[in-house]
Amino acid sequence: MSVDPRESKPCPQGSRIDPYVGSYAARAQGMVASEVRALFAVASRPEVVSLAGGMPNVSALPLDALSDIVQRVVTEQGATALQYGSAQGDPVLRQHICEVMGLEGIDASPDDVIVTVGSQQALDLVTKVFIDPGDVVLTEGPTYVTAINTFAAYQARIEHVLMDDDGVIPEALEEMLTRLAAEGARVKFFYTVPTFNNPAGVTLTTERRARVLEICQRFNLLVLEDNPYGLLRYEGEPVRALRADAPRNVIYLGSFSKTLSPGFRIGWALAPSAVRDKLVLAAESAMLSHSSFNQLVVGRYLATHPWREQIKDFNEMYRARRDAMLTSLDALMPAGSSWTRPEGGFFVWVRLPEGLDSKAMLPRAVGERVAYVPGTGFFHGDDGRGNMRLSFCYPTPEQIREGVRRLVGVLESEISL
Ligand code: PMP
Repeated sequence: MSVDPRESKPCPQGSRIDPYVGSYAARAQGMVASEVRALFAVASRPEVVSLAGGMPNVSALPLDALSDIVQRVVTEQGATALQYGSAQGDPVLRQHICEVMGLEGIDASPDDVIVTVGSQQALDLVTKVFIDPGDVVLTEGPTYVTAINTFAAYQARIEHVLMDDDGVIPEALEEMLTRLAAEGARVKFFYTVPTFNNPAGVTLTTERRARVLEICQRFNLLVLEDNPYGLLRYEGEPVRALRADAPRNVIYLGSFSKTLSPGFRIGWALAPSAVRDKLVLAAESAMLSHSSFNQLVVGRYLATHPWREQIKDFNEMYRARRDAMLTSLDALMPAGSSWTRPEGGFFVWVRLPEGLDSKAMLPRAVGERVAYVPGTGFFHGDDGRGNMRLSFCYPTPEQIREGVRRLVGVLESEISL
């Protein structure tokens, strides 16, 4: 039964009763704020060490250079910067984006790039263009929480493929695709964060990359490669993006949120040209055009600032933070726990000793002034209680050491209960 909002009684002030509850589209039913969100408000208090959020450390940005660039964009390019632009994005910025992708082996034309409002919007647009209710999306398990929410918002059926410390397991992918084909399921794409996975921190090995591409090609399955962290490498050899070796089968998503700043909200999709056309049309109806201003600022930054060197500086800073976290975990974590050792990115994925529940434990941890994200957020369904994601990007090395010390105190008291 639908409710006419004009007839519903006004809610008492502060009431959580929603007078529109009967009017929402089916796809909105699953859109609910996560239970841990309220705790994060507490976790942002200064006395809490937050190992929860994935915020880049923007205090390391070259602020003088950026403020000079902003000023020049206004004075020298104001007429363009302050006007509507195209839904595909500024051509000069798209050219620079191709240079950035070249660092991970991708040879692309700016014509096939569409600028998006962070890579998050690209995720939304791709899902909008491909998913009907009930269509299957495959993802790693665990995977990026907001991708799960996006797929769920378009009423996809989400299936997790097993992964280990070398990334997604090709045999598990093949087995699942075989089962889904036998079922007659409409499988639309495999969403993957193959490099410095959020939340697992692991990277798909070169051998597995070839296997995964071969399997997806055999099953005629599109790959949605999400790669916001690939350039943030602190050790080991760079890997080629999946898109570098399979231009026709991969839609690639990139972002300046981690290598520059999330405040500009600039990401992109690189897609085969027919898909690109659909994405541009979808973008037009979602937001007409991008912020011309932000695009020109980022374009000028890439043209005038030594951004490759800047990323090296960021990597030095993040490496020290990662090392602080891994050294503290090695020294303090109780027996029965294990964790990943990321070569880049922002996250460590922890497996807790048998019987501990990261979600149930969170209020207690926040009481002890440390926060993390329970593993449950990264699965569609009930998995992940025995895991947690720890981020090392934002707190200083000293804060990380203190945060791990507090966390281990909580784990030990849980174990002795
Ligand atoms: N994908 C992954 C794996 C992420 O971790 C994030 C940000 N946390 C995004 C996409 C979205 O990033 P943005 O929209 O800021 O580019």
